[in-house]
Amino acid sequence: MRRVSVILVALAALVLAGCGREGGPGQTPSEQLTFPVAQNVQVPGSATFAKIQQAGRVKMGVKNDQPGLGVQDPTTGQYTGFDIEMGRMIAAGLGVPADRIDYVVVPSAAREDAISRGDVDYYVGTYTINDNRKQRVGFAGPYYQAGQDLLVRADDTSITGPQTLMGKKVCSVTGSTPIQRVRQQNLTQPENVVEFQTYSQCVNQLIARQVDAVTTDDAILKGFAAQDPQQLKVVGQVFSQEPYGIGVPRDDVAFRNKVNDLLQQAETDGTWQRIYDATLGKSGTPATPPAIQRY
Ligand code: GLU
Repeated sequence: MRRVSVILVALAALVLAGCGREGGPGQTPSEQLTFPVAQNVQVPGSATFAKIQQAGRVKMGVKNDQPGLGVQDPTTGQYTGFDIEMGRMIAAGLGVPADRIDYVVVPSAAREDAISRGDVDYYVGTYTINDNRKQRVGFAGPYYQAGQDLLVRADDTSITGPQTLMGKKVCSVTGSTPIQRVRQQNLTQPENVVEFQTYSQCVNQLIARQVDAVTTDDAILKGFAAQDPQQLKVVGQVFSQEPYGIGVPRDDVAFRNKVNDLLQQAETDGTWQRIYDATLGKSGTPATPPAIQRY
């Protein structure tokens, strides 16, 4: 009897360990990153930090369908990726452990609303810093430098860069900087611009031959291509600069300064590199952190 229960306990432990593991079937589980949780943190004058402290939890805005950056594993429910780990590092620096983070999935078009309404305390999800968005939100960072590129079917030889898109159906996401650029630069006819809420929807359209290209940041497109190299390839002609920032409430300057301090520290002490190497860097492309720009 005793032996049976010992075996049962051991089995239960195995099942639990399996549940906690990240990475779906067929994927190598990503290295589990941990960040020391800061003690006695104070951010004088920050309403956002006061809210976090009172709740004892962080509401973190994320994407859940961007491989290498922000993905939720459908079987385990676990979030992984470069943006997710950056967000966990910030939470730890604010004194909040990983198990007290509430993930709030917000698509590109809804980010400014979600941040300004307070639906999220901060947002980490391939969010380009620009002056237009700064009218409604604040940005800490940049913590990564991406650039707009194109994803096409692996057998396509007709699309070699932004100047070869005329007459092609081009898919991107509502409220994103890449879709704006396609329209402003007239890279294809207005009726050929196809718009969805998420990049995974665009990628499905590309595979189904309903569109000819997906355009957004190279970092995002490389993740999709790596998942399906038989069918997809990245063109590799970057035609914009997309500095990624952590979105914060616009007027909470004390909070923005604190997040900048934490990013700066992570860039200096090797934490940034550790996060990169365990996530985006697995593709083999080396990268170094960009300089923080305080404003
Ligand atoms: N970085 C670009 C943007 O912020 C494209 C990626 C995205 O939509 O999240 O609009």
